[in-house]
Amino acid sequence: MQFIKDIHQSKSDLGKPAISFEFFPPKTEKGESSLFSKTIPELLAIQPDYCSVTYGAGGGTKGKTLEIVSRIQQEFRLTCMSHLTCVGATEAEIRQVLDEASELGIRNILALRGDPPGGTGDFVPTEGGFTYSKDLVSFIRSNYDFSIGVAGFPEGHIACKEGREVDWERLKGKVDAGADFVMTQLFFSNEDFLRFRDHMVKQLGMTQTIIPGILPVLSTNQIKRFTELCGATIPDKMMEKLNMLENDDTAATEFGIEFAVEQCEELLKEGVKGLHFYSLNKSYSTVKVVEGLSSFR
Ligand SMILES: Cc1cc2nc3c(=O)[nH]c(=O)nc-3n(C[C@H](O)[C@H](O)[C@H](O)COP(=O)(O)OP(=O)(O)OC[C@H]3O[C@@H](n4cnc5c(N)ncnc54)[C@H](O)[C@@H]3O)c2cc1C
Repeated sequence: MQFIKDIHQSKSDLGKPAISFEFFPPKTEKGESSLFSKTIPELLAIQPDYCSVTYGAGGGTKGKTLEIVSRIQQEFRLTCMSHLTCVGATEAEIRQVLDEASELGIRNILALRGDPPGGTGDFVPTEGGFTYSKDLVSFIRSNYDFSIGVAGFPEGHIACKEGREVDWERLKGKVDAGADFVMTQLFFSNEDFLRFRDHMVKQLGMTQTIIPGILPVLSTNQIKRFTELCGATIPDKMMEKLNMLENDDTAATEFGIEFAVEQCEELLKEGVKGLHFYSLNKSYSTVKVVEGLSSFR
């Protein structure tokens, strides 16, 4: 399995974007079986460069992440990154997870602080654990040989009351602590992403790759819930359209595909080095979006 930093480099040398997908560990056997027998095989048709699996997002599935990552790597020979958070873990427990990841042949970690349980409220660090993702990045860089990614927020992190530029300066700090690339939270206005990228590159001198996170909308109510939790903005025009499709998820899904194709085309024209799709463990929209891109056809 490859380091993701090397995948980004070799795709960039070929002048092609790296395509990746994100999964969450299914909570049921049926969900797991569907991920392995349907979703991933369908996504493989569009030749992804790598994928990733979340860690305890929304609560409770921490233990499953490494198992799913390892199974994807073994069954599909596809490089898979494990997300890892500092939530509810001491340094010794994090060390155990990283040791196990190494033993399983996992070579890429997305180093995160994580959200407070339930997704809202103040984050309370665990005694003997890490307070910010930067601490986790430093720990991994000093003790292991992983390619490390970190999370970036084109509109600023929801809990950063000092404003987005302060959050971006902290992002520069965590990248300098040893990260190889940044993956962003979902966003719907490319202007937000481009402003963020310009700031990171031109003002703060960051040289590491920034990969935009793309979420093809599947349902109006679902996207309203997600954006409330993570603080991403739905532009007015998009919201108007989504409100009209509130009771029709099929139409919202088709709209989501159309929107994401346009969004990705523009980002590719702006020279992004990859597209990371939040698949929500479904293949239909992501396949349609990638197939709809002129660089893929
Ligand atoms: C691509 C991506 C994947 C994700 N995957 C997962 C997942 O698998 N599981 C999961 O639970 N969550 C996941 N998340 C959500 C993420 O855990 C949350 O957004 C979390 O609230 C912040 O994580 P972080 O790593 O950015 O934290 P940090 O970088 O630690 O930042 C958290 C907050 O602390 C502030 N901060 C940083 N340093 C300092 C400092 N020195 N002093 C004061 N304030 C500071 C920042 O401005 C920010 O507001 C993901 C997010 C993204 C974008």
